[in-house]
Amino acid sequence: MFSLSDPVSKLHGVGPRYLNYFEKLGIATLRDLLWHFPFRYEDFSHYKKIEELEDGEVTTIHAKVVNIKNKYIFPRRMYLTEAKLEDETGSISAVWFNQPYLTKNIPIDALISVSGKVSFKKKKKGFVSPAYEIINTSEYQNQTSKLRHTGRLIPVYPETAGLTSRALRYFIQPIINISDKLIDPLPLDLRKRHELLELKKALRQIHFPDTLEDAVLARERFLFEELFLVQLHLIKDKEKYKRLKAVKMDLDIPLIQNWVTQLPFKLTDAQRKVIWQIMHDLNSGRPMMRLLEGDVGSGKTLIAIASALLTVKSGYQAVFLVPTEILARQHFQTFSRLINGKIKMALLTASSSEIKEEELEGKVSKKVLLEKLSEGDPVIVIGTHALIQKQVEFGKLGLIMVDEQHRFGVEQRSALIEKNKEEKLTPHLLSMTATPIPRTLALAIYGDLEISILDEIPAGRQKIITEIVMFERQMEIFDFVKQEISKGRQAFIICPRIEPSEEQIDVPENLLSFQMQLEYEVKAVKKEFQKLKEGVFQDYNLAMLYGKMKASEKEKIMADFSQGSIDILIATSVVEVGIDIPNATVMIIEGSDHFGLAQLHQFRGRVGRGEHQSYCFLFSQIKNGQTQTRLQAMVNCHDGFKLAEEDLKIRGPGQFLGSRQSGFPDLAMASLKDISKVEAIKKEAKMILTQDPKLEKTPNLRERFLQFERDLKIN
Ligand code: ADP
Ligand code: MG
Repeated sequence: MFSLSDPVSKLHGVGPRYLNYFEKLGIATLRDLLWHFPFRYEDFSHYKKIEELEDGEVTTIHAKVVNIKNKYIFPRRMYLTEAKLEDETGSISAVWFNQPYLTKNIPIDALISVSGKVSFKKKKKGFVSPAYEIINTSEYQNQTSKLRHTGRLIPVYPETAGLTSRALRYFIQPIINISDKLIDPLPLDLRKRHELLELKKALRQIHFPDTLEDAVLARERFLFEELFLVQLHLIKDKEKYKRLKAVKMDLDIPLIQNWVTQLPFKLTDAQRKVIWQIMHDLNSGRPMMRLLEGDVGSGKTLIAIASALLTVKSGYQAVFLVPTEILARQHFQTFSRLINGKIKMALLTASSSEIKEEELEGKVSKKVLLEKLSEGDPVIVIGTHALIQKQVEFGKLGLIMVDEQHRFGVEQRSALIEKNKEEKLTPHLLSMTATPIPRTLALAIYGDLEISILDEIPAGRQKIITEIVMFERQMEIFDFVKQEISKGRQAFIICPRIEPSEEQIDVPENLLSFQMQLEYEVKAVKKEFQKLKEGVFQDYNLAMLYGKMKASEKEKIMADFSQGSIDILIATSVVEVGIDIPNATVMIIEGSDHFGLAQLHQFRGRVGRGEHQSYCFLFSQIKNGQTQTRLQAMVNCHDGFKLAEEDLKIRGPGQFLGSRQSGFPDLAMASLKDISKVEAIKKEAKMILTQDPKLEKTPNLRERFLQFERDLKIN
């Protein structure tokens, strides 16, 4: 028998390959798996006899397989599997593409349930790429409850390449029984008041609902629970925070004015406004908690610089936490350049510690740097996760800034706060993100966090011309890159993976489509680099960049690219966020179908940062409709907020917001449009905490809540 805390590896058919996919979806235990909810359902619940089928309708039939065979269609280089199906009223064909193994999975004479769209082309009746499953005779007596891919409402889950909804259903359905033993953490009276389904029922209905209404009710129940926990957490947190005081920084207007006049460009109005808001926050004597949302390229770094400047001039330390070493190094340089050496700066990453000040410049030992930080030397420290290590302490921490906030967990900033030695004063907090979060959502997640929006892109930028490029046109694009280089510009080529993956796939074959296997053959950076260097671009300066390289190598390459001595940088997603090379005008994304829209938008944001017209080419080898629609969204839309919404719809909130990392529940993220509901839930949370601050009267809820808070800490 399984239990919720078992790892998914205990399931039949889950080997290393699948574990890897599960990990990508943030699924480690059976609990995670059962809590991986569908984001929509395919309605295959209508049955018909073959004779009754009509063109274009989505329906299910039960039929016998009379014949099944593969054809190889040479000009299109693909397999076509065609089956002839029969019931007592007639016969019909079903075709699938590039899944030749189907002839092994679907034996002749088998009874099969088939769901999908019927088409009547050239008078021939057929299902095109339908869902199917083999049924046995007893199930054929309309025991549809056993079906999991056809003949009912079928869950469609957030997927990752290699782990399809079909596979997820295959794993989830057999373990759904575990839920029978679960005790609902929500008190009965609360459930009654809000008409919430009981946990067991909700779990079944969210995965395999009897009706769409049941699915909605199930969803609402989970949403309620998660929001409720979030609110309990926020109320407790706020109580803690209310008692806190912060450093009161000087409202030094001339300082900022002088600095602004020395900048090489004029601030946008949005930047001006936000800096002003922050100056007041820093001067208020209460800890600032502000989230800065601004699309890629809107100039968030400048806000960070201004805030840090004010802090250090008031005699306090400012830290800037960033997700990658490359970005830390780049910010360190940008800060130095735009502050003009007036202030002491430090860099701390896993591999380097540096200081920049008048007397002393360059690399220092980590020990020296840590001492200075601990003594409270007023300095701007830019760094990666290394800042959160145990040995790091701040003597006078005034301001914490987090770049690309969605890359970090909520608790990482708390960890930073705790490093402040001056316990009576809480540091101010500024989080920055290009991933937009709706206001209600942010309120529910972050409580009293203030939000600033940079809704203006600096003047003079041109729209980045975006195109989908199929294989045939790649050469043409490479020629175009050469032209751009001859004008003095530079280019990025992004590849989705570092090592070519040639390992065999250890899963039941029928769970993995041929198309997916194709997807694995993505071009590896190294391979691609070799190929381009020896081929099309042999007369050019190429370099590669990937996460696992030594930090010093990465730095050298970024420095060379930044100075222009490298024409083309071939990289993995390490350059996804933050990188700022205004002279680069071409972004090529190989295997672009492997990335989410928000991520593609981030990549695209690496170009078009200077005055030159820039281009983004989405290389793709997949011609199917959904992929094309997704990529087309990139061509048509240049607004990160809108693309994020689209992404949210397609991939589900977990991956989109990185909420798995941040520890905040997916559902709560997904549907917070309804502010009145959030209010109602908040009221319940307040009520229960007033009556019973330690939740002693509701032990199940207490346990669930403690788990929730532990999860927040771990992540
Ligand atoms: P992001 O919001 O994506 O972090 P950055 O802060 O990296 O954006 O800024 C993008 C680019 O725009 C940088 O090269 C920066 O120097 C430049 N920039 C920022 N603000 C302005 C402005 N007001 N006018 C012109 N260029 C600006
Ligand atoms: Mg940035």
